[in-house]
Amino acid sequence: MSAIKDLVKSFMLTELLKGMALTGRHFLSKNITVQFPEEKTPLSPRFRGLHALRRYENGEERCIACKLCEAVCPAMAITIESDVRADGSRRTTRYDIDLTKCIFCGFCEESCPVDSIVETDIFEYHGEKRGDLYFTKEMLLAVGDRYEPQIAASKEADAKYR
Ligand code: SF4
Ligand code: SF4
Repeated sequence: MSAIKDLVKSFMLTELLKGMALTGRHFLSKNITVQFPEEKTPLSPRFRGLHALRRYENGEERCIACKLCEAVCPAMAITIESDVRADGSRRTTRYDIDLTKCIFCGFCEESCPVDSIVETDIFEYHGEKRGDLYFTKEMLLAVGDRYEPQIAASKEADAKYR
């Protein structure tokens, strides 16, 4: 019986008509797609994009080389070396993130006691070869310097939910 039903359905092109009716219903309705990259969808302040190292307002880098981020990173993407400065403070001499290993879990940001390493809302970046996605301390600080207002605004927007 069902074979006869299927035969009648295919003969009457009912599936095709149903599809065309659906297309017709949405033909004049408002588009829900956006024209990326000109148009963008909203991002959460917790969006986990490109990493950055932040500084304090006086220009001093926040990172105190505690290595918590390195220890917590499940992908072992962070490499830190540190030294003690003449003034007795401890600072990193090397802070690298291999973004080809990173799984963007956000653990490094969560573990940081001084809000130094963060994940920004920047996702439009790319590398043309493996080395391009190996971010050194200088590169991470440069991202932080450039996007500090954005980073601070995201932190502030999220603060009340923490
Ligand atoms: S986001 Fe996760 S995987 Fe990536 S560097 Fe941070 S801790 Fe490691
Ligand atoms: S970025 Fe934060 S967690 Fe990582 S070493 Fe520096 S202070 Fe410690």
